[in-house]
Amino acid sequence: MLLVLDVPTMLLMTAAASLAMAVSLAAARPQRSKGTGLWALGLVLHAATYVLYTLRGMVPDWASIVVSNMLLAGTFAMALGAVSQFRGQAMPWARMLVPVAAMTLLFALFIDDYRARIIVAGVLAPVQLGMVLWVLWRPQPPAQLRGAWLFSVGLGLQFALLAVRGMLAALDAIPLDGLMHGSPMQSFVFMAAFVVVILSSLGFILMAKDRAEADNRYFAVHDELTGAANRRALTQTLDRDVARAVRAGEPYALMMLDIDHFKVVNDSYGHHAGDQVLRHVVAVLRERIRAQDLVGRYGGEEFMLLLPNTTLSGGAALAETLREVMEQTPCMHEGRSIAVTVSIGVCGAYLENASNWDYLIQAADQALYRAKAAGRNRVECADLPRRAYA
Ligand code: GH3
Ligand code: MG
Ligand code: MG
Repeated sequence: MLLVLDVPTMLLMTAAASLAMAVSLAAARPQRSKGTGLWALGLVLHAATYVLYTLRGMVPDWASIVVSNMLLAGTFAMALGAVSQFRGQAMPWARMLVPVAAMTLLFALFIDDYRARIIVAGVLAPVQLGMVLWVLWRPQPPAQLRGAWLFSVGLGLQFALLAVRGMLAALDAIPLDGLMHGSPMQSFVFMAAFVVVILSSLGFILMAKDRAEADNRYFAVHDELTGAANRRALTQTLDRDVARAVRAGEPYALMMLDIDHFKVVNDSYGHHAGDQVLRHVVAVLRERIRAQDLVGRYGGEEFMLLLPNTTLSGGAALAETLREVMEQTPCMHEGRSIAVTVSIGVCGAYLENASNWDYLIQAADQALYRAKAAGRNRVECADLPRRAYA
């Protein structure tokens, strides 16, 4: 015997599941996650859709047929908006709104023709769902793969069932006695709608959670503004690097770099320009250093460079190159060119003591101070105390 379930019960269960998922999403909403708000809104529209379906025959047809399916198309439009936002893309307003308008008009037109409406939904909804999946997976798959798969399985199931039902209706291959008439096809379609809500919402929550965790890992060691290593990462790297340099008997160099007259940039071009200059300086530095070197933001406009296996003279030569490149590469901000120069203090040595590297920073800092005092846009080298040498 084929499975025939009670249609109104299934419709109400889907409405309830949608609302439950909307509430869960609002509660779970991870920081920095984009799109969860729109997805939750889509679920509320979905719940309203199914409540109106349940009221078929009890409320006027324009509400239960036209408005409900406008809301269903609105749900898929919200899904498209949510995924676009999640992927950091602009809101695709036209691709969101045109299908909603089309669904509304065609359902108003075919208000008395259930078969025609099934065919319309069998075309329009899969087009909408296809666009959602397209934005999620193109041009590159998202980094949050397991959530994206769960989400896509949910949406893919909805896509397949609506498309197949539309096709069967077009071929006149299934009996169509109206929405509330239980049949194996209706059972599958509405059970799927229930499962789809759960799978796709959990998928979306998982994607948002995976992204939040990756962000947390990233920002634990990176400066938010420039993407350079943060102070904590610099400290951890120094611990590791200095111990290795002592063990291997290799030289180690460290640079402190400070932007000249940075306050003037902020004062005359504004804070956004200042922020742009900070990003620019990091980009220029990163282009010139080796893979094993590390640039970090030590404080406001002060950067530290860690250079494993580098002698003082090697560090000084690199510092001079960096100073020159910086002088020759102005920062572009909103069509304006902002001149940037830096002062650099360098120290480098064959280290003999792995437990303490504070004096390296102090020595580079003192050299930096001398570079500032001597007129800025300069490199100065540190005199390290004897105990630092092997
Ligand atoms: P000097 O040549 O002696 O280094 O002069 P300076 O103006 O660069 O140095 P000062 O220490 O007087 O000023 C540093 C300025 O950096 C002041 C502060 O407002 C600004 N600053 C610190 N962090 C940020 C930031 O994240 N963004 C922006 N826009 N400005 C910052
Ligand atoms: Mg400065
Ligand atoms: Mg400073």
